[in-house]
Amino acid sequence: MKAVVFEKIGVVKVVDIPKPVRATQKDALIRITHTSICGTDLHILDGTIPVEPHTVIGHEAVGVVEEVGLDVSRIKVGDRVAISCEVQCGECIHCRNRLPALCERGGIMGSGPRMGNFPGAQAEYLRVPFADAMLEPIPAELSEEQALFVGDILSTGYMACESGDIRAGNVVAIFGAGPVGLCALASARLFGPSQVISVDVLDYRLDVAKRLGADIVINANGKNPVDEIKNATEGRGADVVIEAVGSAKTLSNCIESVRGGGHISIVGVFPPGNVEISLKKMLLQNLQIRMGLVNVVNMPRLLTLLKYGKIDLSPLISHRMPLCEAEEAYKIFRSRLDNVQKILLLP
Ligand code: NAD
Ligand code: ZN
Ligand code: ZN
Repeated sequence: MKAVVFEKIGVVKVVDIPKPVRATQKDALIRITHTSICGTDLHILDGTIPVEPHTVIGHEAVGVVEEVGLDVSRIKVGDRVAISCEVQCGECIHCRNRLPALCERGGIMGSGPRMGNFPGAQAEYLRVPFADAMLEPIPAELSEEQALFVGDILSTGYMACESGDIRAGNVVAIFGAGPVGLCALASARLFGPSQVISVDVLDYRLDVAKRLGADIVINANGKNPVDEIKNATEGRGADVVIEAVGSAKTLSNCIESVRGGGHISIVGVFPPGNVEISLKKMLLQNLQIRMGLVNVVNMPRLLTLLKYGKIDLSPLISHRMPLCEAEEAYKIFRSRLDNVQKILLLP
């Protein structure tokens, strides 16, 4: 089968490798119909997430079940399924506490030894362990493409809103209008905010934010986003601020632009090293911060919301390319060419 492998820092390759086989009776074998490139894959490419050469990468995919083991009961051959980017057993203490990101037997597909060393999903076929826990059938009303982001970035964006504890009438500011920030934006609308403000440094991404319902967009290259958010909120600041970039600067912007007693929700992944924040200011202002790795427990809920048209992420898809052109796709995605947002790779 064709698969995308990490070759060395800065280089991915499309190669022919043997089709995977089921290893346990809890596995399923999936024929991938759609997969995509995530910002986190770029951390593999730049060496921040270490991966052995020839590792199949990728962790966002949907497909059709081709085989299941005898111990798989929820999923059957022929089902169209959304796949959790996180490997989760469904049985350990963390899975039972609805925190599969910390699964004792888990990790993230296609992300190397620190993430459990599970093969990735940018391939024609994928072996999925713990199939009952990791797969969600796609409702008949939805295309596979519509369900693609449920297992990673939509779950992340939705979690960002839950962590921010958005209440009806709140002003929500989201730093980052990349795929994750935009998924947070689409999710935020479900919580009944009065205003959603999107901040980025790329106008073409802010245009997509507008299409997804942002009330105010701010280009932080030309304007001071903290002043703009304060101006839009009679000087108070936003009730909830979401960090979907992963930089010290935007985190500092978040702390400066949230109102006293407000909530800061972080989903951006920060580069190695420490980030300084003033805990004194946090304490005196009664600020709350929550953060975490994607929680995929909301996959069924998100599929239902997509099914009833409450979320539409189609404006996020900027490119559809055959999997065999993945090398070119990575080039476009990495250098942000051609107004790229999300690239679908079609096996
Ligand atoms: P991305 O790089 O496409 O998006 C980041 C956006 O931030 C870009 O549009 C960029 O222009 C913008 N930006 C840069 N500097 C800015 C500034 N000063 N002010 C405002 N915006 C600025 O990445 P993405 O795929 O959308 O992911 C966003 C972050 O979320 C990344 O750090 C990624 O690793 C992380 N992530 C976390 C999880 C999780 O489990 N918590 C899951 C997926 C991705
Ligand atoms: Zn991802
Ligand atoms: Zn587990």
